[in-house]
Amino acid sequence: MTDQKPTTTDAGIPVASDEHSLTVGPNGPILLQDHYLIEQMAQFNRERIPERQPHAKGGGAYGRFEVTADVSAYTKAAVFQPGTTTELVARFSTVAGERGSPDTWRDPRGFALKFYTSEGNFDMVGNNTPVFFVRDPMKFQHFIRSQKRRAANNLRDHDMQWDFWTLSPESAHQVAWLMGDRGIPKTWRHMNGYSSHTYMWVNAADERFWVKYHFKTDQGIEFLTQEEADHLAGADSDYHQRDLYDSIEAGDHPSWTLHMQIMPYEDAATYRFNPFDLTKVWPHGDYPLIEVGKMTLDRNVTDYHTEMEQVAFQPNNMVPGTGLSPDKMLLARGFSYADAHRARLGVNYQQIPVNEPKVPIHSYSKDGAMRTQNVTDPVYAPNSYGGAAADPERYPEAAVWASDGEMVRTAYTLRRDDDDWGQAGTLVREVLDDAARDRLVSNVVGHLSDGVSEKVLARAIDYWRNIDKTIGDRIAAGVNGG
Ligand code: NDP
Repeated sequence: MTDQKPTTTDAGIPVASDEHSLTVGPNGPILLQDHYLIEQMAQFNRERIPERQPHAKGGGAYGRFEVTADVSAYTKAAVFQPGTTTELVARFSTVAGERGSPDTWRDPRGFALKFYTSEGNFDMVGNNTPVFFVRDPMKFQHFIRSQKRRAANNLRDHDMQWDFWTLSPESAHQVAWLMGDRGIPKTWRHMNGYSSHTYMWVNAADERFWVKYHFKTDQGIEFLTQEEADHLAGADSDYHQRDLYDSIEAGDHPSWTLHMQIMPYEDAATYRFNPFDLTKVWPHGDYPLIEVGKMTLDRNVTDYHTEMEQVAFQPNNMVPGTGLSPDKMLLARGFSYADAHRARLGVNYQQIPVNEPKVPIHSYSKDGAMRTQNVTDPVYAPNSYGGAAADPERYPEAAVWASDGEMVRTAYTLRRDDDDWGQAGTLVREVLDDAARDRLVSNVVGHLSDGVSEKVLARAIDYWRNIDKTIGDRIAAGVNGG
């Protein structure tokens, strides 16, 4: 007798060997009835699932969110009530790189959170940047393609990237941010997470507010220079994944403090920037940060595939007291994330344990590939057999806003201070110091000096001069060898 667990097939049947296939004599052919061998080979061939498009390369951990302040005046969401602690899972990622690509490429980082709240799953699918490259979902697919690989040579291509950016001036704020220090965080622990989008909060009196989430790192912001990142891309391409995993294993649990910017519902109509435009921030001077609580990551996953590759975040997972906003990018993401999960993981992806809410589910979804939870009668609503029934008294459609007008295809209505260059200019002139500006110029010059055609280069110089004349002139001098 031994304590060693016997190897079994996936059906739990003990197998005869880990080493030898079943053959006719020691030198003879392999037999088709060696079911265990066939199962091993077949399973192996099917191990990979389609990678995310985008945000393929990433990792994360489990943790908790503790509310440390009282924001009940702004939201009735259970997850944000004073003293509440909620379990969560977080995933960080690059955007453009494939699953095996280096962690240290210059790119925004995904900052995706799933809170297992007492009112169902609440997801905040943010980035480490407060803004984004485009503001209309019609351009999103094109933007991502321009950052990935060309058709013919299967190479990433700076000409393609700058071609898209310079023909899309709304990208200026995010590009200025990306080319600065925060474009390559030192580790996932040393970066902030922003909702970027504007969302809605609703309090118990049904008062509505527009909000932005800011998860500020308690480890401090740190970055890698281009040279450090280039070195690590070869020396340890999984540097960020390793750092997070090893820190948590060592008991060094990273944390972030959640602050909110909160705008009264009525302000949106007259605010000097369109508050739903994803390429803009709300300056802190207009809407100061209000502290809410602390997120701590304290537990590593034990199976990367089932817990990270299959974790499925979706911005439309909004619990009572929270909601979407008229941000066009956000509304499109509300559809596209769930659709991506259906495509990658199958229609029953929410039954994968990492995605399962910690509350009872009473939906009328039924059947489909890989369903694991039993469905019980009645299978339709309304019914007279005790099935679940929506309760609009307890759970009204609260996170809604007024909207009226002809159907159009057009840009957002411009506000007093809306333009594509202004906030990017503020960033490079007023937020960066001299040393950070020097690194920004050097990063842009390096990027533009790598395969960018003359016509795109000329537009890129104009683009930077529109952000800031002096920075643009310095970049022009740099690419011309000055
Ligand atoms: P503030 O001076 O109040 O805030 C500037 C913010 O810039 C800081 O709080 C910090 O954000 C962030 N920051 C600091 N260094 C860098 C860097 N190297 N790269 C990117 N961001 C950095 O000014 P405003 O609120 O009026 O905003 C001015 C500009 O700052 C904006 O145009 C925007 O580009 C940038 N910014 C603004 C944010 C906002 O939500 N208002 C958030 C982030 C950047 P943090 O405190 O989040 O670390």
